[in-house]
Amino acid sequence: MDKQQLITELQSYGLKLLDPEQQTSGRKGGAGPSDHKAVTIDGTTVMVPIYNQPAAQSPYTVSADQTILERDGELISLIAFPETPKFYNLTTSDGIPYWKIALLHSQDVLATTVLQTCMRYGDQVNACQFCAIGQSLEAGRTIAKKSPDQLAEVAEAAVRLDRVTQMVMTTGTPNTTDRGAAYLTECAKAISTLVNLPIQGQCEPPDDFIWFERMKAAGIDSLGMHLETIEPHVRAKIMPGKATVPLDYYFKAFAEAVKVFGWGQISTYILVGLGDSLDAILETCDRLIAMGVYPFVVPFVPITGTPLANHHAPNSELMFTLYQQVGGMLKRSRMSSAEIKAGCAKCGACSALSNFEK
Ligand code: SF4
Repeated sequence: MDKQQLITELQSYGLKLLDPEQQTSGRKGGAGPSDHKAVTIDGTTVMVPIYNQPAAQSPYTVSADQTILERDGELISLIAFPETPKFYNLTTSDGIPYWKIALLHSQDVLATTVLQTCMRYGDQVNACQFCAIGQSLEAGRTIAKKSPDQLAEVAEAAVRLDRVTQMVMTTGTPNTTDRGAAYLTECAKAISTLVNLPIQGQCEPPDDFIWFERMKAAGIDSLGMHLETIEPHVRAKIMPGKATVPLDYYFKAFAEAVKVFGWGQISTYILVGLGDSLDAILETCDRLIAMGVYPFVVPFVPITGTPLANHHAPNSELMFTLYQQVGGMLKRSRMSSAEIKAGCAKCGACSALSNFEK
């Protein structure tokens, strides 16, 4: 089996860890894709679901010494798990462990949710059905608001001790018209004053696009504004609160953001497997790429404890077809995840897409 196919399958099926000792790290809950763990296969680090329901049924397992990936008991590939980063051992002067402020994602990405609360989370009428932003907070694995100084302190240590090469800052959506852009700006300013680290900000489109210039001036190099789903009936069902922001408004925001951050420096998540048709996804990817936005196509990962915990992950054949088609579009447009200065699409670990760009 080639690497493209293996990663695609692993991200759909997940990985069943037989030994509880193997389950000690990884992301449970939080914003964005979760319930998964970083694994390195043949030099590529990807996030693979391990804590959710599909993973418990997966044909993929790991040998007791954690070095061999097996499928139905047969050897498939060598596998490795990234080591716990050194900055996790540190604590801020006010007694907060650094790992509650930001986490290592994949191999060299520092990731944080600056505001761990969201105006859309917590009531069924508005909440995105796939989201677990409140879970890690409830479990005491993070803090509700990371201060700009805390983030700068952790970022400096992560670069110095663990050779982190980029930072992803996402946010729950506050009930303000800037939709979190103002706080991301404040945080980026503090980080970029202390350490030289490419940063991606992620938020909903703000009311005033002047925020794009402010974010850029503060040290944010690239921006993610995430569609998640596309077709109106899917948006209304899966993310009823977020669906009140019209798709057209996202596209207006993309066009303005490309002017500020540059062609190929804006990206958006598209979660596959939540009801959008293949045609709708492909048409949207085509439109996005034509305007300079990287479509980060990601298989939906059902997260334990969310309303979609029992929803199926998309099958790997569908993902493979999509990756081939979107990979071809990216190639023809000469848009590449490697050229993005920072962000999820650059990291690429939650999707197999970057393996199809070449
Ligand atoms: S793609 Fe984004 S969410 Fe996934 S591991 Fe990389 S930085 Fe984290």
